[in-house]
This record gives sequence, structure tokens and C-alpha cells, in this order.
Amino acid sequence: MSLGLYLHVPFCRTRCHFCAFTLQIHREDRAQRYLHALSGEMRLHAGQQSLAGRRLDTVYFGGGTPTALSAAQLEGILQNVRDSFGLTGSAEISVEAHPDTVTEDSLRQLADAGVTRISFGAQSMDDSELLQIGRRTSGNRTQAAVGMARAAGFANINLDLIYGVPGQTLDGWLATLEAVLSLDPAHLSCYALTVEEKTRLHIDVRRGDAVEPDTVLQNEMEDAASRRLAAAGFTRYEISNYARPGYACRHNLLYWQGQDYLGLGPSAQSYLDGRRFGNAVSVDDYCRTLEEGRLPVAESELLSEDQRQRERIVFGLRLIDGVDRTLLRHEPPDGAWNQTLERMARRGLLEEREGRIRLTDEGRRYADSVAAELI
Ligand code: SF4
Repeated sequence: MSLGLYLHVPFCRTRCHFCAFTLQIHREDRAQRYLHALSGEMRLHAGQQSLAGRRLDTVYFGGGTPTALSAAQLEGILQNVRDSFGLTGSAEISVEAHPDTVTEDSLRQLADAGVTRISFGAQSMDDSELLQIGRRTSGNRTQAAVGMARAAGFANINLDLIYGVPGQTLDGWLATLEAVLSLDPAHLSCYALTVEEKTRLHIDVRRGDAVEPDTVLQNEMEDAASRRLAAAGFTRYEISNYARPGYACRHNLLYWQGQDYLGLGPSAQSYLDGRRFGNAVSVDDYCRTLEEGRLPVAESELLSEDQRQRERIVFGLRLIDGVDRTLLRHEPPDGAWNQTLERMARRGLLEEREGRIRLTDEGRRYADSVAAELI
């Protein structure tokens, strides 16, 4: 069983209109307080042997914008991770980055510190679309950032894209795909824009200043991406994720395969030895609890064997390859799982092939409702 570490860095330079993540606008005094708290959190987990001496197969800096911190600060965190928990020799170490927050020097420093994978939040290569979602950057910046990452020695480069932006057409989406393919990334993540509560986009939609994403158009965009990226040599291995051979994100696979991970930082979630637990969401609460010398765990639940199996099925179904039918051999005596799966197969949402159960193309559009029925 593999083991991962997620580190939530809760800072950005500005907030994008669609973003509901836990974050603060970056200020050095806030960063210093967070770094101190994070170091305390690692010390407490190491002291109580939370990982039982197991070394980490993956480390993932997510956010927020991890590169809102300096490369030296990220390097310091990584050194602390090595000292506190230890890494396997072939550990995957990913850092999410905003194209505006990197230089060739900072990327080189991250590569020298052992970071193996860079994930840029590109979202779109069209500057007017970026403006629509409150991203004060440009396609040229993304292009430059990818060039700098390559010059710094990174081969494993991901770009996050978003489709269904207000005003975006199918042709506009295809143009973004062509532009990112010309940058030759190893991995692409394509997410449908959703309107989350308490975001600027949500307010704009309510006021009538922005239109809600057209889900029919988003489905066409998803299909178009799937076809175009397959033709370009990418394998779609999860609903939103595409990789060149050998470049699937090992850390994210941990989540979908029901493996163990520890999450550090505000709002970070963990799953260890059948227990799910989550940290305080607010950055202030997170820091204050650690300043008092306690772990900032706000919720914790030990899952029953039945719940663990259900979750393995639900998360596993996000993978294009689906789940092994043998997972169902632990079904409770009432046969409820099989009945639910058969009902969904009749509705064309699931299919079984070569001993594996997977979502159909139609089922992938309703993955969340399928999950809700199974859990
Ligand atoms: S850069 Fe990313 S994390 Fe930060 S506000 Fe924008 S979408 Fe959210």
C-alpha cells in the first residue's frame, strides 16, 4: 500500500472568481505564521508516529498557490518532510504553481530540492477568457512558465485547464487545447467550470452579470477534449485527467485507489488506517491550535469495513479503468451493492467488462450522483 503527503498552502496573490478554496491573500507575515504552524504540525505527527515509520511515496504541494511562497520556503518545508517522515527513493514530489509566480531560477531551485513534477494552473490560453474568471495573467505567461520549467529540467509538467468559462465557445476551447498541446506537456487536467457558493462568480450569476455554464456545451467540450487528446497520444485515466504514457499523477491515484495519505495545512484531509480526519478550515483556527501545541484536527471518523469498501468503489469508479469486480466480494449479506450497480447498469451508467466495473461515457457525466447512490 502506498502512502502520500498532501500539504495545503493557503495563499494566492488574488482570488479567481470561481474559486472556493480555503485561502488568504499572500502576505509575508501570514506566510511566516503558517510556516511556523506547519512545522509544528509535522513535529506533532512525527512525535506520535502517525505514519508508523512508513516512508512517503508521494508529496503534493497544493493550494492556494504553493509558489506564492518563495522557492527557499518550499525547499525548507520539503527538508522538514524528509527529516520528519522520510521519502522513498523514487518519491513523486509535485508542486502546483501559478505561471506568474515562477522564474527560471525559482524553478531550478525547486528541481534541485528534489521536486519532480510541476503543475501550472493555466485554465485558458485566451486572455479574454482569463479576464472573465478574474485571472490577471495571460496565455503568454503560461507559455513562458512552461519554457522556464523545461529549461530548469522538468519533464513532468501538468497544465490545469477549465472549460465552460462565460463566453467561451467550442472553437475557443479547441484553440486553448491546440495552444497547450504545442507546449508538449506530459499531463493535462481538464475541469468543467462549476459555480460554487460564496464565490464572486456565484454573486455575478445571481445578479445576472454572468451566465451559468451551459452543461450541454460543456459535455461537447469534454468529448472534444477526450478525442483531441487521445489523437495527441494522451491516455484519459480519470474523469478529468489525461497523461502521456508513464506520467499519470501518482499522488492523485492514491486518492482514487483508496490508499493512505496524510494531509497537512488548513482544511487538509487525511485517510490513514481506515480513519478519515480533517483539519480546521480557517487559516487562523489552524495556526492558533498549533500555537497552543495541539493538532488542528476538526473532525475524525473511523470507517467501518463496509464504508471503506464502498468508498473504494466510489473513488475507483472515477478511474477510466474502473474497479475490479472482486471488490464486491465483501458485499454485505443484503446484496444491496449488486442491486444498486445492476440498477445503474440498466440505466446505461455502468458497464462490466473483463472483470472490471466502470462508468460508461454517459455515467461519467453523472459520477457524483452515482457516488451518492453507492455511499
Ligand atoms: S490561483 Fe488557484 S487557488 Fe488561487 S484563487 Fe485562483 S483558482 Fe483559487
